[in-house]
Amino acid sequence: MLHSKGPLLTVDLDGKTTTEADIEDERKQYIGGRGLATKLAHDRIPFDADPLGADNRLFFTTGPMQASQMSFTGRMNATAVSPLTDGLASSNAGGFMSRNFAETGYSALELTGRAEELTIVHVTDEGVEFEAVPDLEAATVPETVEYLEAEHGIESDQSAVIGPGGENGVRFASIMTTKDRAFGRGGLGAVMGSKNVKAITVDGDSAPEIEIPATQAEIHREAATDDHIMKRQGTVAVMDLANEVNGLPSYYFSEQTFEGVEGINGDAIEKKKYKKGTCSACAFACKLPTRDEEAGVETEGPEFEVAMAFGSNSGVDDIVEVMKSNELCDRYGLDSISAGNTIAAYLSSEDEFGNNELIHDLVEKIAYREGIGDALAEGIDRCHDELGVENWSVKGMDFAAHEGRVLHGQGLSYAVANRGADHMYATFYSVEYPLVPEEDALDPNGATGKADALVERENLMALNDTGIVCKFSRDYMTPERYEALFGADFGELLEVGARTVTLERHFNNQRGFDAGDDTLPYDVPGLQEGIKEYYDARGWENGVVPESALP
Ligand code: SF4
Repeated sequence: MLHSKGPLLTVDLDGKTTTEADIEDERKQYIGGRGLATKLAHDRIPFDADPLGADNRLFFTTGPMQASQMSFTGRMNATAVSPLTDGLASSNAGGFMSRNFAETGYSALELTGRAEELTIVHVTDEGVEFEAVPDLEAATVPETVEYLEAEHGIESDQSAVIGPGGENGVRFASIMTTKDRAFGRGGLGAVMGSKNVKAITVDGDSAPEIEIPATQAEIHREAATDDHIMKRQGTVAVMDLANEVNGLPSYYFSEQTFEGVEGINGDAIEKKKYKKGTCSACAFACKLPTRDEEAGVETEGPEFEVAMAFGSNSGVDDIVEVMKSNELCDRYGLDSISAGNTIAAYLSSEDEFGNNELIHDLVEKIAYREGIGDALAEGIDRCHDELGVENWSVKGMDFAAHEGRVLHGQGLSYAVANRGADHMYATFYSVEYPLVPEEDALDPNGATGKADALVERENLMALNDTGIVCKFSRDYMTPERYEALFGADFGELLEVGARTVTLERHFNNQRGFDAGDDTLPYDVPGLQEGIKEYYDARGWENGVVPESALP
């Protein structure tokens, strides 16, 4: 089975020491990416670690596919205990950092402890240097990127950076790379900030030799030549459909259609797109560099989820205003989905939907924890009581756009996912929307009878995060192609995904998570039965992994 190569580099920030460890067994069993990081995190982070304490560990990993030149592989993984969900969480970013990371020669980087001063950790194939940067305190992401370029000649695609959000412990702070790509969900930026690490840089010329089968060329060619709507409109292409099926969260989840959808949909974003955007080596190029000269806004995106959170969910029908919110989140280092949803909660409490000046001001207030921003920085799960609004989150993670009240299997997925109400954990929506070819489509009604399909999709998504293959490759990656690329039976590959999900769940169980956490704030027909079917399919007891089922 194909797997990543190279040792684990541990950086202990307490004593500014580094060690290397041979992790061949783990790499062979878990391939790389999220699987490898989950195994390492499970075995090395104390089960009772404070997410923002020195004993939490932050892992960065790539997979074997980052040695290819195939489309859909310009991504990398980060893993730690999440300050938002309090469970183990992995987050996946696109951009151009993954291949530069591979050039360091390491398959995994681990940060532990806490630096005394704000620090940049420079990792190369010749060693690690620590640079104290007290003057960068509260610097924005662009300011930090400019510093790295001016002082060290380090490009934005060689670094992972936090903004004020991460430094100030915002529970949904992101880690930014290539300026506008984010390890977004789960607040891993706050973990990096809690370690007093402002940035990590990567450089070298020591990428390990990994032979990637020729199937990669076929996939790359199709990605380059296909006419696909995502190449023009990214994920926002689905917005009109979501609205049509009563599945576009609006006005802080109180409504499911948005009368102003035309102002923020795929056509609206396409008008603002000024060039192609992509991740490293990807000919699919689904990214959305956008600008509006009159408003002086330039950003990348928003994607569908952000167009929901800062658009329909905040009562905003102008794509330029959403672009501005998106740009601010990137600048301050905040997950733009959670930031938008949390601000929507505040707008709901104050009856201020559509107030763009307030929205933009709140992004900054959250990043610096000023005024009401201090409460909002805790996320919806922790601040909804103070705001007097409903708690639209699962396991602390606020909801993604794909509507579980309409796509009931997606609702089931939100309830049971280890990462909470997150759409990418299983991407179950993709088989429930009516645009799926009939032979692959599932009836969106009801949560029963879907557990086996959900388990398979969770395992497949974990495999993608492990390989690492972008999840938007779904129209191109057949079971046969996975087998050809990774040199193993598809069932064996899905087992790698299954082991990853099980280890995440087991870690979270040790922190107190059980069936009581697998819930939704709304009714879905057959939810309880669907959850039970899911546990049976996983071999878990009441949401808990029995020791006998541990990989
Ligand atoms: S499909 Fe889009 S998000 Fe995925 S690697 Fe390619 S450009 Fe990046």
